[in-house]
Amino acid sequence: MLKALELSGFKSFADKTRFEFHEGVTVVVGPNGSGKSNVVDAIKWVLGTQSAKSLRGSEMTDVIFNGSGSRGALNAAEVTLVLDNADGKYGGESQGRDVAITRRVYRSGEGEYLINGGACRLRDIRDLLAGTGIGTEAYSIIEQGKVDGLLQASPRDRRAIFEEAAGISRFRAKRQDAARR
Ligand code: ATP
Ligand code: MG
Repeated sequence: MLKALELSGFKSFADKTRFEFHEGVTVVVGPNGSGKSNVVDAIKWVLGTQSAKSLRGSEMTDVIFNGSGSRGALNAAEVTLVLDNADGKYGGESQGRDVAITRRVYRSGEGEYLINGGACRLRDIRDLLAGTGIGTEAYSIIEQGKVDGLLQASPRDRRAIFEEAAGISRFRAKRQDAARR
């Protein structure tokens, strides 16, 4: 479960901004262009998305606040996602009651990932989240157009979507891999 999300220098969130998620449903409301989708982009980004396009940009550094009005551009973007690990779902109890995943990127293009404040590789984050239903490949984020896409998909494409959601597709990929050897 998501506990909190902290943005700093990410897209329109120049100042440090903290969202806290409680039991039940959280709804983000606001006028057009106020940054609602940027919040979702931040979650995808901190989970390790490598595609600038899926974040509605053309380069990875486009997520860094690039100035608005009288406010100058910043040199780095940082997002931290805090997950509730009370049940040890994310890497067992050794990770602590909360697991904080952080991603940073600098104008130079350099970036880093951290788990509970310690530097790590993107792989470590992927491993931590594998099979938990959260992750860039999982269907935990349903965006505008995805529902239409699902309804209009051919039976074959729709099956692929369900296989992905059910966690079967990675076994299919592995089998194809094995058959090719
Ligand atoms: P809608 O209701 O139209 O979907 P929204 O609330 O989802 O709107 P977003 O798409 O999240 O709005 O936010 C768009 C705003 O974020 C734009 O004003 C855009 O200029 C700003 N923005 C995006 N990237 C950056 C950046 N790197 N630096 C500063 N502002 C940015
Ligand atoms: Mg939007």
